[in-house]
Amino acid sequence: MIRFPKATRHLLLGYLALHLVAVGIFLMILIHITRNQMILDEQSRMKSIATILASYVDQQDEGMYQPDLPDQLILLGDKMGVRLTIIDTTGAVVADSITGVRDIGPHGTREEILRAQSQGSGFSERYSDTIGQPMMYYATAYHPANANHSGGFLRIAISAASINSAIRSIRNLIWMFAILTSGITGMLMVYFSARNMEPLNQFSLAARRIGLGRYERSSMLKDRRDEWGELAEAFEQMQDEIALREDNLSENSQRLEAVLSSMIEGVIALDGNGIVMLANEAACRMLSLSLKELLGHKLLEMIRIPELQNSIARTQLQRKFSKSEFLTPSDPPRRLKARVTVLAKQSQRGIAIVLHDVTELRQLETMRQDFVANVSHELKTPLSSIKAYAETLKMGALYDQKKNLHFVEQIESQAEQLERQIHDLLELAKVESGKAAFQFTDVDINDVCDACFHQFVPHAEKNLVRLEWNHCAEQPLVRADRAALETIVKNLVVNAIHYTPAGGIVSIETKIELHAAIIQVSDTGIGIAADQQSRVFERFYRVDRARSRDKGGTGLGLSIVKHLTQAFDGTVHLESQLGTGSRFQVRIPLAE
Ligand code: ADP
Repeated sequence: MIRFPKATRHLLLGYLALHLVAVGIFLMILIHITRNQMILDEQSRMKSIATILASYVDQQDEGMYQPDLPDQLILLGDKMGVRLTIIDTTGAVVADSITGVRDIGPHGTREEILRAQSQGSGFSERYSDTIGQPMMYYATAYHPANANHSGGFLRIAISAASINSAIRSIRNLIWMFAILTSGITGMLMVYFSARNMEPLNQFSLAARRIGLGRYERSSMLKDRRDEWGELAEAFEQMQDEIALREDNLSENSQRLEAVLSSMIEGVIALDGNGIVMLANEAACRMLSLSLKELLGHKLLEMIRIPELQNSIARTQLQRKFSKSEFLTPSDPPRRLKARVTVLAKQSQRGIAIVLHDVTELRQLETMRQDFVANVSHELKTPLSSIKAYAETLKMGALYDQKKNLHFVEQIESQAEQLERQIHDLLELAKVESGKAAFQFTDVDINDVCDACFHQFVPHAEKNLVRLEWNHCAEQPLVRADRAALETIVKNLVVNAIHYTPAGGIVSIETKIELHAAIIQVSDTGIGIAADQQSRVFERFYRVDRARSRDKGGTGLGLSIVKHLTQAFDGTVHLESQLGTGSRFQVRIPLAE
């Protein structure tokens, strides 16, 4: 069965209706004109007959009322193919060619007679009860030459049935023609519709494919050379263009996504209603919210940070840049800095928020301030002592033979402390300046520890501490700076000797464990309380400040150890028990 497109169906039905209405109207007009023309023809025929008859009756003169007049009229009517009626001035029928009798009733009130009375002649048309068919009448008044006679009316009637039947035939013919042409046109339309349905189906399928995001070329209607073929070609060009644009769009959006996701800064875009249109991973992380929680929701309903809310409101109202800094309600809280700007080309008052996590920056700033304060304080202490001893000497102690040497020794000792502090600070600065400050070679940690052991045996003995050294059998090679490794071991050994009372043992040990070389420095000293253990690696942190200073400590030794180890991708681990001793373990990956 043929499936017509809706438009064709409507067109077809519309055409058929219009065609039939047009034919109907045409027919009505045609029938009206034809009938009128036929009636006019008939009328003029009747007029001619009437004129002939009138002259005939005039010629008859006296014979007008002869008894055989009806017979003569029948004869004449037959010959002329019409009905003839003679009516006197009273309206009584004198003779009639059809009935041949005079008793068909008065005819004075007939329309045509009334007209003939007033105008001399008259036409009318009506159904004749006498004959039993529609008739046309023409009556004319006649005035005989015989003055004794008052005259009357001559009426000619002809059947309208022949006109009606002719009209009927024309009507039937035209209707048949109309139906035939409608049928042919309809069939032609059906044919062309069916022919055009196929391309439509193809277009519909292609459009659906595009809707699903599939842009492969189907080469539809490629062999059609008509408008459909041209349309198909234009359609495929459009399809290619859409595909290209979509590719560009998706490439751009991928690029944007890649840029946004690789950004350290959090980026959030809001529309005019404050609804999140876009947010990157960093923004989600900073606000401790998932992308799902952010996208499509009002930002201010998701996070309650007054500083940010004010900043957004300010930018929305004044259409200019604003910034704010605030702590997030997360645990632990993060310090974020927000820069809020209006979104360019966004007519709906959209805004963009760029978030910077300044937690570490602010911590570093605080650390730097603390560090400067600590350094000043640490350097000030020996300097004040030196100044005080020098002033005392100047005030007269210089000549005090008993004390002057002691004061000079104190100045010397404080100067050495100052020197150590400056040395350690420089060491720390070197570590922080990065790996470039080191000379990386494959270093055998057995060698480093062995040298350190021999260097500190006298120092240990002086402190009445026994220094032991156990090296591993293999050769633990690490990729590091030799001098830096020596500093690590030296700092650990010096601390161990200093914080171990007389009679204690300090041991240095090397081993290899899971692709890492381990330097272990243990002592049987005073140990470190559990709550202090993580803090001893901080700069200038000392468990017992006075004791450290007595021993010539700077508070930087373990901080240097930690930073140097990290520079060689290693870790430092501390195990300690108050009053029992401590064990520091430095773990550095083996050289490849
Ligand atoms: P210091 O110059 O004061 O020794 P360090 O950074 O080397 O500074 O050490 C920090 C603090 O850690 C020391 O002041 C001390 O209190 C503690 N400490 C370090 N090593 C040991 C150890 N082997 N035994 C006990 N306490 C130690």
